[in-house]
Amino acid sequence: MQLYSTKNPKHIVNFQQALFEGLPPDNGLYMPSVIPLLSSLFIQNLNKYSFQDIAFTVAQAMLNGEIPDYELHTLVKNAINFQAPVHKLDEHTEILELFHGPSLAFKDFGARFMAQTMGYFNQKSDQDLTILVATSGDTGGAVAAGFYQTPGIRVVILYPSGKVSELQEKQLTTLGHNISALEVQGTFDDCQALVKQAFLDTKLRSKINLSSANSINIARLIPQMFYYFEAYKQVQHIGKDVVFIVPSGNFGNLTAGLMAKKMGLPIAHFVAATNANDVVPEYLQTGTFKPRASKATLSNAMDVGNPSNFARMMDLYGSTWNIIKENIDGFRFSDAETRAAMREVYSRHRYILDPHGAVGYLAWRTYQKAHPEHYGIILETAHPAKFLDSVNSILGMEIEIPDTLNQLYSKEKAATLISKDYNGFKDWLHLNIK
Ligand SMILES: *Cc1c(COP(=O)(O)O)cnc(C)c1O
Repeated sequence: MQLYSTKNPKHIVNFQQALFEGLPPDNGLYMPSVIPLLSSLFIQNLNKYSFQDIAFTVAQAMLNGEIPDYELHTLVKNAINFQAPVHKLDEHTEILELFHGPSLAFKDFGARFMAQTMGYFNQKSDQDLTILVATSGDTGGAVAAGFYQTPGIRVVILYPSGKVSELQEKQLTTLGHNISALEVQGTFDDCQALVKQAFLDTKLRSKINLSSANSINIARLIPQMFYYFEAYKQVQHIGKDVVFIVPSGNFGNLTAGLMAKKMGLPIAHFVAATNANDVVPEYLQTGTFKPRASKATLSNAMDVGNPSNFARMMDLYGSTWNIIKENIDGFRFSDAETRAAMREVYSRHRYILDPHGAVGYLAWRTYQKAHPEHYGIILETAHPAKFLDSVNSILGMEIEIPDTLNQLYSKEKAATLISKDYNGFKDWLHLNIK
C-alpha cells in the first residue's frame, strides 16, 4: 500500500511507515495513493458475507499485499470481534449501533485494528514498543482496551487528574498488564505537552522505542470503512437510496464513509451532523472554512473547532466545493435541541439515543424533509450509558447499564500520580519501561 502526504504528493510511504509515524513530517495527513474499486459482484452479494469477511475484503484491497492474507485474516478477526447491527426506528430510518466493542464507542474499531497491525509489525522486532497517549477521556479508553495484552507493546496513558469522568477513569486505570495510567496534576494540555517533550527527547528515545496512537492515524480510518459496508448489507434488500448520517467532530468517521463510497459502495448521500462546533456545516453552506476554538457542549466528543480530517475530505474531492456539496449536507444543533430529540426518540420509539446519536437523528429529520423517499442510516457512535448522568437526567429515569460497565465500576483504580514537570515523567519512564 502506498500513501502520500496531503501537503506533498511526492512524499510517499507504505502502510507500516504511516502506521508508526502517524503524521508526515510536513504536518499533512497520509492518504492512500489508490482507493481500489471493489467488484460490483461483491457489492451486490454483500449479504452472503459475514462482517469479518467483509472487513477482510476491504482491508485486503486497501493494504494491497503489505500484510499477507493469512496474517491479515487473523488480525481482522481479532480486531473486529463484535457486531455492528442496525436497529429499525421507522419505515425509513435505521440506527447503526457502533457501540458493541469493549469501550462502548465506535473508536474501538480504529483502536483495535491499529493495535493488531502494530503488534503484527512489531513482532519481527526484538525491541518492545511503548505507546504514549495523552487523553482528555474518551480516546484513552478505546486505546487502552484496544492494545490490552498485545504482545511486545506497552501503553502509557496520561490523563488530567480530576478532569475525566469516573467511568472514563475506570476505563483507563483498571486494565493493568501492559497498560499503565499516569494521573497528571495538571490539564489535558499539560498531558499533551509531556508526551510531546518525550518525543523530542533524543536521549530518552535512544533507550525507549516510542510511538503514538494518534486519532488521525490512517490505521484508524481503514477499519471505520468496514461498518459502512456491513450496514449497507443489512438494508440492501429494501432497494432505496441509502443516506448515512454521521455525528461528527474530527470528521474521521465521515471521511471513512467517503472512502467506502470510492470503493464502490453505492451511498446516495452523506449528512454531517454537528453540535455548536459547526465549521464544516458552515463550509458546506458558504464555501469558506473558518476553524476556531471549540465550544463545550453536551455531545462533548464532537467539540472540535478545527477538524483535522477536513484536509482529507478536501483531498478526496480535489478541494472542489461544488462536488463536496453534491455528496454531503451539513447541519448543526444546539444542546436544547439535542435533549428534546433524546426525549422524542424515547417516547416515540422506546429507543435510547446518546447525545451524539441524537445530533445525528436531528440532522436526518432535517434532511428527510427535502428527501422523504430516501433511507437513512444514523451512526450511533456511543452507548447511552457512557453518558449516564446526562442521559438519566434528560430522560428522567435510570437507564439500564450494560454488564461490561457494571463490572468496570467494581474494579480497583491503579494509577501513578505525577506532577506536570517533565523530569518526574521521564524518571517514571526510565524506571518502568525496559
Ligand atoms: C470521537 C467521537 C465522535 C466524533 O467522531 P469523528 O470521527 O471525530 O468525527 C462522535 N461521537 C463519539 C461518541 C465519539 O467518541
